[in-house]
Parts: sequence; structure tokens; C-alpha cells
Amino acid sequence: SITLTSPRGTRLTFRDGIFIGNEFHASQAGQDGKITVFNPATGQELCKVTAGGKEDVDAAVEAAEEALKTSWGLKSTPAERGALLYKWADLIEQNASELAELEAMDNGKPRWMAKDFDIADSIACLRYYAGLADKVSGKTIEMKDGDNFAFTRVEPIGVTGAIIPWNYPIQMAAWKLGPALAAGNCLILKPAEQTPLSALKLAELAAEAGYPPGVLAVINGYGKDVGAAISEHPRIRKVAFTGSTVTGRKIMASSAHSNLKKVTLELGGKSPVLVFDDVDIEEAVPWVALAILFNMGQDCCAGSRLFVQRGIHDAFIAKLIEAFKAHKIGDPFDDTSSHGPQVSKEQYEKIMSYIEYGKKGGAKVAYGGGRAEAAAKGDLAGGYWVEPTIFTGCQKGMRIVDDEIFGPVLAVIPFDTEEEAIEMANDTEYGLAAGIFSTGASRCMRVLAALKAGTIWVNNYALLSNAVPFGGYKQSGMGRELGVDAIKEWTEVKSVHWNI
Ligand code: NAD
Repeated sequence: SITLTSPRGTRLTFRDGIFIGNEFHASQAGQDGKITVFNPATGQELCKVTAGGKEDVDAAVEAAEEALKTSWGLKSTPAERGALLYKWADLIEQNASELAELEAMDNGKPRWMAKDFDIADSIACLRYYAGLADKVSGKTIEMKDGDNFAFTRVEPIGVTGAIIPWNYPIQMAAWKLGPALAAGNCLILKPAEQTPLSALKLAELAAEAGYPPGVLAVINGYGKDVGAAISEHPRIRKVAFTGSTVTGRKIMASSAHSNLKKVTLELGGKSPVLVFDDVDIEEAVPWVALAILFNMGQDCCAGSRLFVQRGIHDAFIAKLIEAFKAHKIGDPFDDTSSHGPQVSKEQYEKIMSYIEYGKKGGAKVAYGGGRAEAAAKGDLAGGYWVEPTIFTGCQKGMRIVDDEIFGPVLAVIPFDTEEEAIEMANDTEYGLAAGIFSTGASRCMRVLAALKAGTIWVNNYALLSNAVPFGGYKQSGMGRELGVDAIKEWTEVKSVHWNI
């Protein structure tokens, strides 16, 4: 096992290895691979963890198939599966403080946010699907002839995979594990290589909860090794992915070339936020700031394109700058921080290069525009600190307007009419989310119907509920997570015609 000491002095112990059959093993991939894990707040190495490969995915599939034959899938009852999810959620809750510290060290997000948002929501998500497990049923269908009747059974898919990103490590795991396990599937989880730690702890707690061996596998490793092995595997029947659109395409192509496994994709975004001139500026500004700054802008729903109606543009931006100034960047272990470092050196450099593109491309830096020097002091000097940044005077064709930056960088574009705002907002290949700020109910209804996005926030932003479906239009994804309907993405429907 590995023990880290957090900046609070807490000893955080977790097991390392390839988690298959409720035990942690050495990798069978023969590459002796290790992932070096960095603390984003300091840039220092935290530890090294085992990186797996194709042979480990093969072993996980074998273990999963065995579980489906003996104790899981159709050999388990929905109520049993619900009870296990409740038990696991309870154990996560009991370990929430340690998990939050681990997540803060691994990912860089403020500790309190990891605890109050990511982990609290993950526990709620597992409980939501625990409650749903025994409420999934097929239907009986009346046939006209009277000699036959038909019914449907809702069955688990079988062996499934999940490939998740680094921005919400525990939460992205929970969104997939909840419905997958409630429905009776076995799941092979590949965490992101930037944030491999919390999933190891979750695996340990799953074994403690009493899951039969083989139901859950956690295989850390790189996308090109473990991720590719999952998406290419001929006996994995579904893969759920959250991450970049580029990788989503690769996963879909692998599915097509291997066994046409079902694919659900939650991909990138360049979400528009539309602010009309009838708003109460004071009320709208905190939401608009949150839309881009939440999770350091590392959010697929980040409201990164801001369209402001010309009449209030300058007044709105002046207030928005005040809100950015009040946003406290600093140590993830200081509970007054609302903003930590970016997750990795690579992401830091990518965002900084976009800030340069913005400057060179003719946009005006209205706020920020560099390294967050105020945070980068003492032990944190080597951290990946980016200043929240507002660019005004932006237009289509600038890279900061067209590309997903995945950082705290906002591009502002003025507009005159509702039609113009809708057209510009929809002028993207993404379609994950959008925000509308207006006090006109009819306008809100018109605009929300016209926007091509899977989630629309009206006079708020970034609210999510386990009961509400989530997913993207266009190249932001396929399928939906969360809510009752997510179960459909993790089950097969069998139709039976019976001659009576
Ligand atoms: P990524 O999509 O490459 O990584 C996400 C997951 O996919 C990781 O677990 C990774 O190991 C895995 N992966 C990578 N290549 C794979 C492959 N060929 N086959 C199977 N799995 C593979 O994202 P990234 O490189 O970490 O970040 C790059 C950009 O992606 C970010 O700047 C951001 O724009 C976007 N992103 C989006 C989200 C989101 O929630 N939508 C999350 C993270 C990153």
C-alpha cells in the first residue's frame, strides 16, 4: 500500500495495483509500467502507481465473465444489487474526508469542493441507483389474436467498460458505476492517468462492501494501453466514455472495428452563455462567473463563450471583473480557496498557449491573462496556476472562441438581437450545455427551444441532479447519463412472443 501525508497532516493510505477479483495484483502486461502522479499545487511528485495493459484487461474480462456465471448479472437479484450500492455509498461517506484530501492532492481542486460537491454528489448518485435497482422492469404487451402474448425482460448487458477523465475523478466513476452495477453489469473502470488515486480507494471500499469478485475491476494506465484495450476488446459489450471529442472518436472507431460494442460518449463543449439586456446584472454576474470558473474551468459544460447584449455589455463586464477579482485562487487545503491549480503541466501549458493566441489574435485582455503569481508562492511556486482570464472584443474565427480550452478563460462577444445571439451560440460543433439570462419568460422559452444543447440553464448555471438526464447534442456526445433513463444505456431489452 501507499501512504501519503496530506498538508493537514492526515495519513492517507490506499492499496496500489491492478484491482481484479477484489484483490490488488501486479500488472500482467509485462511492461513494468508505473504512472508518476504529481501534486498540481506544487508540481512535485506524489507517488508512483501501477500502470496496466491489455493482459490486465483480458484478466478482468475473465473474472467478470465468471462472476456473471456464478453470482452477478442474472444470478443476482436487483434488491441485492441495490443493497450493495447502499453499503458501498455508506463506506464512501465514512471515508469522505480522507477521499477528499486524496482527491485534492491528486487533482488540485480545493479539498472542501471535493468533499461538498464531488464526493457528496457521488454518494448521492450511488444511492439514487441503489434505489432504482429493483424498480427496473419489463412490460407485458397485449396481442390482438389472443393466442399469443408478449412481454419484455430488461437484462444486464454483461461485461462493460468505463473510461473516465481527470476533472471529476470520483464523480465520473460514480455516474458510470451507479447505473452499470444497479443493472447487473460487471464494470472495468479505467481512471485517467493524471488522477489514478481515488479510484484505488473506491475499489478497496467496494471489496469491503462485499461485491462478488469480478464485478468491479479498476485498471489504471494510459489511454493508448488500457483505454484502447477496453475499447477494442471483443468480449466487452459496452463502453462508456467521458473525455475529449478526439478520443471519443477513437473509441467509437475501435468499437466499430472490434465487436460493435455499445458506446456512450460524454465529450467536450464550448458552451454559450447568453445575457440579455433585461437582466438584473447583480443577480446574473455570480452565475456567469461560476459558469466559467467552476472547477478551474476544467468542466465540459464550462460557459466559455459569453454573449452579452450590447446595451449592458460594458456595465456587465465591469461587474464580472469584480466577481473574478473576488474569486480566491490558492492552496487547495486552505478552505477559503475557491480556485486551485490546473490538473497538470500539460493542461497548464495548453491554457497558457490559448491565452497567447487570444492576445495575438486581437482580443483584449479585460482581466487576468497570465500565471496566477499570487498563488504561486513558497511550496506552491511550482504549481500549475492560471489566472482567471476575460477576453473582450472576441469574434468567430479566433481560437479562443472556437476551441475548447478547458481552463478559466472566457471569450466575450457582444450582440444586438435575439436571432443574432442564437445564431452565434449555435455556430459550433459542440452542443453540451448553454445558459440564458433574461427576465422575459417568453424569450427564455423561445431561446431555449432554439439552442442546440443537451442541458440549458435559465438564470442559473452548472446545476446538476442525479435525477435529471445529462448528455450532449452534436459532437458533444451520444447517449445520456443520470436519471432513470440512464438505465436504458446499461441494459438490453429482450422481447418474448409466447404462444399460449
Ligand atoms: P482524453 O479524452 O484523451 O482522456 C480521457 C480518458 O481517455 C483518459 O482516461 C485517457 O487515458 C483515455 N484515453 C486517451 N486516449 C485513449 C484511447 N486512444 N483509447 C481509449 N482511451 C483513451 O483527454 P485528455 O488528454 O486528458 O485531455 C485533453 C482535452 O480533453 C482537455 O484539454 C479537454 O479539452 C478535454 N477533456 C474533456 C473532458 C470532459 O469531461 N468532457 C474531460 C477531460 C478532458
